[in-house]
Amino acid sequence: MDLALSPPPDDASILTALADPRRLAAVQRTGLLDSPPEENFDRLTRLASRLTGAPVVFVSLLDQGRDYHKSLVSPIAEVPGSSRVRMGRTFCHYVAVTKVPLVIEDATLLPVFRDVPSVKAMGVRAYAGVPLLTEEGDTLGTFCAIDFVPRHWTEQDLDVLTEFAHSALREIRLRMALQHADAVNQQLVEQIQRVDELNMKLEELATTDPLTGLRNRRAFDSHLEQELAIVQRRGTPLSLLMLDVDHFKRVNDTLGHDGGDRVLQAIAGHLKACARTVDVVARVGGEEFAVILPSTGEAGAHEVGERMRQAVENGPWDEMPVTISVGVATLVDGEDAERIYGRADAALYAAKQAGRNRVQQA
Ligand code: GH3
Ligand code: MG
Ligand code: MG
Repeated sequence: MDLALSPPPDDASILTALADPRRLAAVQRTGLLDSPPEENFDRLTRLASRLTGAPVVFVSLLDQGRDYHKSLVSPIAEVPGSSRVRMGRTFCHYVAVTKVPLVIEDATLLPVFRDVPSVKAMGVRAYAGVPLLTEEGDTLGTFCAIDFVPRHWTEQDLDVLTEFAHSALREIRLRMALQHADAVNQQLVEQIQRVDELNMKLEELATTDPLTGLRNRRAFDSHLEQELAIVQRRGTPLSLLMLDVDHFKRVNDTLGHDGGDRVLQAIAGHLKACARTVDVVARVGGEEFAVILPSTGEAGAHEVGERMRQAVENGPWDEMPVTISVGVATLVDGEDAERIYGRADAALYAAKQAGRNRVQQA
């Protein structure tokens, strides 16, 4: 099985094989380059060393310009850390090209291998290496054994190295599958977050009045139902204000439709400023507003209505006076949304009838 019988790959073909971008990308994807030692790999090299009797066994990954030893059993004292990285030509490089096991009994007898740096510098004589091949057939590295004396590698030695190469490869594949699953999971989490954000924006859009930024009619209706459900459970009071701009047709006639819109925006600002954060201020019609006042009884509601009326009256308005009329209704036992809304609206109508710019209790 000595490959030296067939001519070994030359330097150019080794360089081409090592520099293959697909191969290098596959090596990167293992996530093992420069990773710390791990028992899962060390157990394999340790056992292989014991079973073959080879003093040095390692798992190499052939990176750009260097061999990285993911796991290394070696009796040679080297600078800590440096032993994991080897520069220059190694026997493993031949395996990267041929993609079959390389078995050398005595490198010093073979002219091609005599000049491999480890032969000269470290006295390596025998080598047996099995390629770690991806499913695409790219060589990630090798599982190999070295001896400092010439040796005959038995069938059993090669079986051990081949078996353990498979185990190392399985470990690598498992890792990559887990990493991939993690990445997919992370992508999924991010997508769900984006959908959540989008839903929140859509919800915001669907419940906001574009002109004033207040809640729209739809949001008002659902808030009122929610608040009524809370009242049923807790028995707290609840009041509702209905507000309508007085003689708004005149405002439009004087300031134009856009001017009228600006007045509506200013009124919305006043109403919001007079409300608490728990209150729901909504634009429920063209120039009609409604305010839900949770935990607020008759007196409190009247007070808020009056504050809003005054705030609008005080403007300041440059071009013409602007006022609102307010109807107030406080929830009575067993009342539903429609009934309290109807009573607040009736109170508003009464305020209009009574001369406008006033607050009327239902
Ligand atoms: P009243 O005191 O009885 O409420 O008198 P009013 O003039 O306000 O009467 P009414 O409520 O019938 O008129 C509302 C007007 O508001 C009519 C409509 O043209 C105008 N309007 C409705 N929606 C808008 C809007 O979005 N922008 C502007 N500028 N005007 C609007
Ligand atoms: Mg009006
Ligand atoms: Mg109106």
